Amino acid sequence: METEQSRLDLIRGDITEAAVDAIVNAANSTLLGGGGVDGAIHRAGGPQILAECRKIGGCEIGDAVLTGGGNLPARYVIHTVGPIYRGGQNHEADLLASAYRRSLEVASDNRVATVAFPSISTGAYGYPIDQAAPIAIGTVRQYLSQHPEIVFVRFVLFSEADLAIYRNAANPV
Ligand code: ADP
Repeated sequence: METEQSRLDLIRGDITEAAVDAIVNAANSTLLGGGGVDGAIHRAGGPQILAECRKIGGCEIGDAVLTGGGNLPARYVIHTVGPIYRGGQNHEADLLASAYRRSLEVASDNRVATVAFPSISTGAYGYPIDQAAPIAIGTVRQYLSQHPEIVFVRFVLFSEADLAIYRNAANPV
């Protein structure tokens, strides 16, 4: 039995290029597109993804929904909505953990075996990345330990600095 450790990896890169079953989008609750990773995914994936998002009609904070991947290498996009950080006393940690967990539940429900995540909520939504990274890693590890159908999860971090923070959260010194 593989450990959950060997089913989790961290790389620096552009998530739109990830060759996995599903990439996760840090969307907003309208699902109608935004900046950051959301804008990059819609640009690279083409209009089909936005058309599917319109039909779905929206997504609650902490929840996730699935669309096709359009022109992306990934077959699917799982759109999740992280919390906007408002000081840390407004259920941000629970909502961030829920965004990761619900994304993986949607993966399991749709026979998605390999998943790539960006760093949810740590861009425009302002979540301090040193606090977000251990929640991201811990929630994914816990899910992997209970769900062998997920073969691996990859975090695709956009900068070397973000990657270093996630590495430290995964392997604290
Ligand atoms: P949020 O609104 O949830 O904070 P953002 O898209 O603003 O989402 O930022 C989330 C993270 O995604 C940030 O760390 C940002 O640097 C990163 N990011 C932006 N574009 C990409 C991309 N193409 N691939 C991977 N990560 C990206």
